[in-house]
Amino acid sequence: MSHLKDIPLQLRTPSKEEPLRVLISACLGGQKCGYDGTSNGEYPQMYPLLASPLIKIVPFCPEEFSFGSPREMCDIYGGNGMDVLEGKAKVLTPSGQDWSQGMIDAAEKMLQIAQENQVELAIMMDISAACGSTVIYDGNRFSDNKVYQIGTGVCAAKLILGGIRVISQRDFKSLEKLRKLIDPDHVINENAIDHHQTEWYLQYFNKTHN
Ligand code: SF4
Repeated sequence: MSHLKDIPLQLRTPSKEEPLRVLISACLGGQKCGYDGTSNGEYPQMYPLLASPLIKIVPFCPEEFSFGSPREMCDIYGGNGMDVLEGKAKVLTPSGQDWSQGMIDAAEKMLQIAQENQVELAIMMDISAACGSTVIYDGNRFSDNKVYQIGTGVCAAKLILGGIRVISQRDFKSLEKLRKLIDPDHVINENAIDHHQTEWYLQYFNKTHN
């Protein structure tokens, strides 16, 4: 099984003068921009990155940009984020609002911010219809028969098309590598794996180990 995320992270060694420029889903930095006005939980794996002088964090919440906070939840119907960008799938809310164009606008804004800041990596919240980079819902996440699909959200898709490497908060192996770059004394957890290597992912999508 090969996966886009199997391509090793290739990042330069940062310095205080030239920190790594990393775009993040703003909620991963603690910003209360989730649909319910929270930060979508706690992400301790982000703390060392957020605190490091060797990383310049660029936070952005695309859904807040287009729809404000709090707001309705949304999901992608009929495809993934790439399909939305091509007009082949829609972003809909539970009340039936079509947020497709607003999401495309947000994706364009996110790519613009990434380019203006010359970001070298994006760390984004998986499962989100905007920020997901590995797995997203296939249609309504509130359905009793909710279904997951392999794919990206709309904004992650836009960044990838713009040549930006995107990982998620669940890509623990990649995050370990990043941590080692900013802290040479950090002992890498050799058991850490990325989300697409987990048993859940492999079983749910009927994949085999590499
Ligand atoms: S759109 Fe992205 S940054 Fe905003 S709350 Fe959702 S996952 Fe977080």
